[in-house]
Amino acid sequence: MTLTNRSKVVSNKKFSFWEMIYLPAIFKGMAITISHLFRKKTTVCYPEVNRPFSEVYRGLHVLKLDDQGRERCTACGLCAVACPAEAITMVAAERKPGEEKLFREEKYAKVYEINMLRCIFCGYCEDACPKEAIFLTNRTVPSDYERDGFIYGKDKLVETLDKRVDVSKRQTASVLEFKKDKHHKHNQ
Ligand code: SF4
Ligand code: SF4
Repeated sequence: MTLTNRSKVVSNKKFSFWEMIYLPAIFKGMAITISHLFRKKTTVCYPEVNRPFSEVYRGLHVLKLDDQGRERCTACGLCAVACPAEAITMVAAERKPGEEKLFREEKYAKVYEINMLRCIFCGYCEDACPKEAIFLTNRTVPSDYERDGFIYGKDKLVETLDKRVDVSKRQTASVLEFKKDKHHKHNQ
């Protein structure tokens, strides 16, 4: 009696002449191998050639500026708390008079670092951020010879005014709708 119907009864049938000389099986195998030579290559010469990623691929983070070029991050720490890999560290500072053009909120991240060796690119930091300040992007983290090179600070994370990172594809209608709802503590 069997628990499933997937078991097969093995028969010890005798090999035919052609099966015994193996040649048909060898030619069949060679034909499959040769047919692959003429198919489109599935490998790319990385890093010279990069595969196109989906717009919503979860890769290298960006810290966004607002429309006026001010840093959106207010160093609330929600991203760091949400991060399951404990990859994010930050030091908060108070905005000084005259710095209104640099930082949108009264508190900002003086230091903001992500350890890319710890990060698992889950996107929880993006989900947790109430200020639309951090997003993952479809860029990859380049390789490095030193571990220090994988600690990404604000110099590598904050976008620049002349090189804005488009994250509009990540903000689906349902995400934007959710973020407008002030009943959620997340959005207050
Ligand atoms: S993507 Fe995930 S693991 Fe990486 S920093 Fe954000 S929350 Fe942490
Ligand atoms: S959750 Fe957003 S605003 Fe808060 S510290 Fe992280 S990036 Fe900055």
